[in-house]
Amino acid sequence: MNDDLTALIRTIPDFPKPGIAFRDITTLLLSPAGLAATVERLVLATRGRVDLVAGIEARGFLFAAAVAVPLNAGVLLIRKDGKLPGATIAEDYALEYGQDRIAMHADACAPGARVLLIDDLIATGGTARAAVRLLRKAGAVVEQAQFVVDLPDLGGADRLRAEGIAVDALVA
Ligand code: IMP
Repeated sequence: MNDDLTALIRTIPDFPKPGIAFRDITTLLLSPAGLAATVERLVLATRGRVDLVAGIEARGFLFAAAVAVPLNAGVLLIRKDGKLPGATIAEDYALEYGQDRIAMHADACAPGARVLLIDDLIATGGTARAAVRLLRKAGAVVEQAQFVVDLPDLGGADRLRAEGIAVDALVA
């Protein structure tokens, strides 16, 4: 159904390290029709009213902002720790080797705010699950997450669903 978008996403072998097949959405972004269709389909997939769209650094920001405008929602930035200027709250998550930390401004959302989470891609789900924990720690109500690409073999979308999140992805 989203074959048109699939055709606009290329796979770069051995990036960022040998053995990894990197799904590159920069080619989708270069296509005016592809970008418009992506944003339109993410907006259509949205359930109910949303106060804020949370985007995960960095490609998630692009889609979060574009989706937030027609939804009449604001944009909340989830960044690598140390990049945001104000007081932050942070959440650690495991990588294949080691761990990483994401952060958001502590005052970015009012308790009870309905937040839609968006990123370009979900793989193991580690990043998105940490983002959900972070947003919930801030008092947000997070019930849905959207991705342009899902790598289902890595199980991230299912892990996220197991935590009560409705997950939509345009391309798998
Ligand atoms: P996860 O935490 O394993 O689900 O990885 C998802 C995060 O890593 C997202 O923020 C993605 O932007 C990034 N990522 C992982 N693999 C890829 C890929 O093949 N293409 C683009 N981004 C990727």
